[in-house]
Amino acid sequence: MKITDVEAIALAVPMEKQIAAPISMPRADEVAPVVFKEYRSVIVRIRADNGLEGVGECMTRLSGTALRDIVHYVKPLLIGKDPRDVEYLWDLLWSVMINRGHHSGFYLEALAGIDTALWDIWGKSAGVPVWRLLGGKTNPKLWAYASSLRLRDIEILRDEIDKHKANGFNAMKIKIGKDPMNWRGEMKTVEQIKEHAGDDVTLMADVNCGYGHDLKTALQVGQALEAMDLYWYEEPLAPDDIEGYAYLKDKLGIRIATGEADFNRFSFARFFKRDAIDIVQHDAARAGGITEARKIADMASAFHVQYAPHTGSSSNIIMTVSLHLATYAPNFLIYEYMQSDWNKEQHNPLHWDLCQLPIKSFKDGYLEMEDKPGLGIELNEEVIEKYRLQ
Ligand SMILES: [Mg+2]
Repeated sequence: MKITDVEAIALAVPMEKQIAAPISMPRADEVAPVVFKEYRSVIVRIRADNGLEGVGECMTRLSGTALRDIVHYVKPLLIGKDPRDVEYLWDLLWSVMINRGHHSGFYLEALAGIDTALWDIWGKSAGVPVWRLLGGKTNPKLWAYASSLRLRDIEILRDEIDKHKANGFNAMKIKIGKDPMNWRGEMKTVEQIKEHAGDDVTLMADVNCGYGHDLKTALQVGQALEAMDLYWYEEPLAPDDIEGYAYLKDKLGIRIATGEADFNRFSFARFFKRDAIDIVQHDAARAGGITEARKIADMASAFHVQYAPHTGSSSNIIMTVSLHLATYAPNFLIYEYMQSDWNKEQHNPLHWDLCQLPIKSFKDGYLEMEDKPGLGIELNEEVIEKYRLQ
């Protein structure tokens, strides 16, 4: 089998009206008009000489056309190669930029789209799901949490919690940290959420790095969450503050989770060696694809770190990739099952309509995957045509 074509397509859906940043971030008011001006995705389609096509998605947090162009730039390296040689092809593409400063960022996100499409073709050609290629069905049922509740009026939050429970969830994540100076006020709302959800619902808190370099606030909030018996404390600090994370892990009983802002195995190795986290949340579409993501999940297991893949605001292609890794990984803990979009008033067609997740059933907090070959998804061509960028 040989690769005959590689195509990247950038998609964008403009926001009908400008929204405030839905997560905590530095200078949120200033940067939101650029960061959250549209829903975006870049899909990659790789075709082989036997007529098979594999699809992948690049994590697209800024310019989709930049990612698309990177994929097209490296295309000549892929033509004529066997798509099943995923390790070789990943290393080949990695070699293009490793000594030139681009061992993360846009380049690795572009690689993710390519690598995922290669695994999809490989699975389709073998007639098996990607999780089978990874090592099989270690976890036939996947515990999943609703992502995410955003702090606002408690009456609205109570309705949201009831809806998630009615849909079968027994675990939910709460976004906190948008107002670091008022963290005590936020904790009062978390307490009300906990009270309404009840003891049979597992709750986690996600700060999206909102306390930045303020270790003391991060510690105080961690103590408050621990006292309320929340399950994990996610990204309290700036993403590269390994010493800060190690400090929190040492001082707190609540589990420390992080990883969605990070990229490759070398960077995660530093967190593991320093014993800085309990739960790793890398995203395959940021890590450079399935090939690299599996290595990170496996490496985590050697350090007794559990794996809870990040999915975030992407299309269902990326979310499907994490389902396959979760089905395989022996240290898998829980899956981030996205239930909301950046804009509460504008449905994201790239999330909900581009393709459906290969989920057979979801009940009592657990989901079961279908057994279709490759990633097990089919793209909606109408959505692609409607939102593709020239
Ligand atoms: Mg997060």
